[in-house]
Amino acid sequence: MMAASLQRCDKKLTAAHLKADLCRTDNSSGVRQLQELLDRVLDPEKPAGDTEAIDWCKYLLAGGEVFEEFCQTVRSYDNATLCGLVWTANFVAYRCRTCGISPCMSLCAECFNNGDHTGHDFNMFRSQAGGACDCGDSNVMRESGFCSRHRLKMGEDVPSVPRDLLLMSEMVLPRFIICIIQYLRDGYSDPDTSIERDLQKVLQQLGPQISLLEELTKMGGAMRTILTKILTNQQMFKELSMGQEENAYAKRNYEKYLSALRSSGLLPVEEEAMPEAVENGAGAGPEPGQGQGRSACWGHLLQPALMTLLKRRIRMEAKALDRGRGRS
Ligand SMILES: [Zn+2]
Ligand SMILES: [Zn+2]
Ligand SMILES: [Zn+2]
Repeated sequence: MMAASLQRCDKKLTAAHLKADLCRTDNSSGVRQLQELLDRVLDPEKPAGDTEAIDWCKYLLAGGEVFEEFCQTVRSYDNATLCGLVWTANFVAYRCRTCGISPCMSLCAECFNNGDHTGHDFNMFRSQAGGACDCGDSNVMRESGFCSRHRLKMGEDVPSVPRDLLLMSEMVLPRFIICIIQYLRDGYSDPDTSIERDLQKVLQQLGPQISLLEELTKMGGAMRTILTKILTNQQMFKELSMGQEENAYAKRNYEKYLSALRSSGLLPVEEEAMPEAVENGAGAGPEPGQGQGRSACWGHLLQPALMTLLKRRIRMEAKALDRGRGRS
């Protein structure tokens, strides 16, 4: 009932209120309220294409700010010296032969426009197979062509991130990511029933979620550090993914994952006993350090099959967008 009434409130106010609660020394009430809200908002039994969930996530991440302003603020703490923006087919990019050390260097439009290429031998092109921005990489291009954002930041102090700026991200994103994983698990055909779900269809429905992930990675080094911390935290993954007693859905979902893993052939036979080994704690497995806890790791799950699917999905999305917005 609490969560229901919270949901009816203005999202922005709720997010600001929750963030204030979570910043307190005793934040237990804030943590409980946020969990209740996320249980409802990020319920994987809801249809995947629920934009209401994305809306909520954006407000919560921004903690009461306008999401676009929050993006700008996070970007101002970007300590990355490389752009690394990845694009899919049909993306418009730039190449400067004057600045390039390697003939296949490419720049995203933003880096090109924020750099000084006056009088250079450059051209704009439509990427055939996709690529990545080389701005900031002195192995590929001359430093004089780096944009103002990725010019070497040696000696120049990037201010350290304020403690509470990414607090909401740390708390909301693990739930957001596990929710995506659960949708994807549902998309695999279930060997125990005759129902074959179409994974491609699920990926298509997850368009808004994947777009949000892309927006997050574009926020720069500060946000990417948070994402990396979440994705490499085995304990967090284990707790969210396997499901505690009270979370029957997560439990069912984890069984589904294990059975899919077994039938996929990705899991060597001797590792099928992994769940028990993990529950018994470190050292209980036959060979500690080798394969230990592998099934309980985000990275293991996200790579490489899932990443391939996500990339293919993103490429499809880009094509569709391109067709839809042909004029712009
Ligand atoms: Zn760039
Ligand atoms: Zn740049
Ligand atoms: Zn140039």
